[in-house]
Amino acid sequence: MENTKVVKFGGSSLADAGQFRKVADIVLSDPARRFVVASAPGKRFSGDTKVTDMLYNCYDLAVKGESFDKAFEAIEERFNSIINELGIELSLADEFANIKNAFAHRAGRDYAASRGEYLNSIVLAKFLGFDFIDPAGYIRFDEKGAFDLETTRSLLAPKLASSAHAVIPGFYGSMPNDTIKTFSRGGSDVTGSIVANAANAVIYENWTDVSGFLICDPRVVDNPKPITTITYRELRELAYMGAGVLHEDAIFPVRKAGIPINIKNTNHPEDRGTFIVAETAETSQYTITGIAGKKGFSVIQIEKDMMNAEVGFGRNVLRVLEKNGLCFEHMPSGIDTMSVVVNSESLIGKEKAIIDEINFRCHPDKLEIENNLALIAVVGRSMRKARGTAGRLFSALAHARVNVKMIDQGSSELNIIIGVEEEDFETATRAIYDMFVLPQEK
Ligand code: ASP
Repeated sequence: MENTKVVKFGGSSLADAGQFRKVADIVLSDPARRFVVASAPGKRFSGDTKVTDMLYNCYDLAVKGESFDKAFEAIEERFNSIINELGIELSLADEFANIKNAFAHRAGRDYAASRGEYLNSIVLAKFLGFDFIDPAGYIRFDEKGAFDLETTRSLLAPKLASSAHAVIPGFYGSMPNDTIKTFSRGGSDVTGSIVANAANAVIYENWTDVSGFLICDPRVVDNPKPITTITYRELRELAYMGAGVLHEDAIFPVRKAGIPINIKNTNHPEDRGTFIVAETAETSQYTITGIAGKKGFSVIQIEKDMMNAEVGFGRNVLRVLEKNGLCFEHMPSGIDTMSVVVNSESLIGKEKAIIDEINFRCHPDKLEIENNLALIAVVGRSMRKARGTAGRLFSALAHARVNVKMIDQGSSELNIIIGVEEEDFETATRAIYDMFVLPQEK
């Protein structure tokens, strides 16, 4: 069928009967919304526990040989209250018995965690009057545990084609030996993307509890504006720097098939949300698309006269990092200086070995490691065309009295990365936001 839309609802969108009703209104209001991917029930209020976490805890008790009856009852209760409040004719008693039995026989942690989406999807399918498709038979991983898109597509596409409307549990698939395997946490986003790929969907709608991505972290800037349209590449840059909402691996299957993603809010379906697209001629609303950053970086600073003329100097430094199993994030350099930015956590316990080895191999004049660096990525596809972007950025930081310790601009001109002291991180982020976004507010 043409114009198929795949819709995924996150845990907060399916946390209780009230949320189920909103989901049904959304799905049934558009016949193109044929395939629904569901998460397990999430938190109903702050301090509540997600069903996935309840399942992990319950299974841990089972493995320790302790009684898990009470813990399991609480899970049954979550589903039964949804079923009762919705007033649907459905009993999960047999399913519960099977799952308890499998727990007692140690069916695996992944199996345990996956039962949240499995049961929730049975309930949602019944409520919507849709088919239920268990991804265990269709979403496949290879022997090494890597997701196998080719095999999955060949199995899932015909199955979807044979169903007019279906609910598919998110978060899991199966291994070649048929045991259940989950994606990492938040993995229902990935399932939605896979189903959109296999269904040749026109769009993948990812319904959550926010109206799309925000230009920057609302914990740093009050009430930041939403991003209306973002490209996959911009999103990757921002996600890498810690901007969350969508699982990182959810991009690949839809990107490969050229399917856009629309992040939407179940509680405010009228909001446009954010469109994630491959390419767009639409310039971003502001010169920048988004700002994201993280604390916890260290810089290895190396100085040596005539470094620029020494063949293989950089390689020798990087070999030391490689030998110690370290990735580097950035490597800004001068004629006689080289700085390598690494994640501070990855340095723990290795600092001395790295210093000793760089000294031994490279004989620098000066070598030191500086900690407490925060990195901020200013990302935007429109920056390339806008003259004076860097000027505005650095004058904003200067006015805010932030000392910029490092600058790195990729040749794609899609982002400018700056390094500042950790204590300046919030001030710097706000200054950049105010410079680019506030004055253009209508
Ligand atoms: N329920 C799983 C989790 O809590 C997967 C998901 O919701 O996407 O991580």
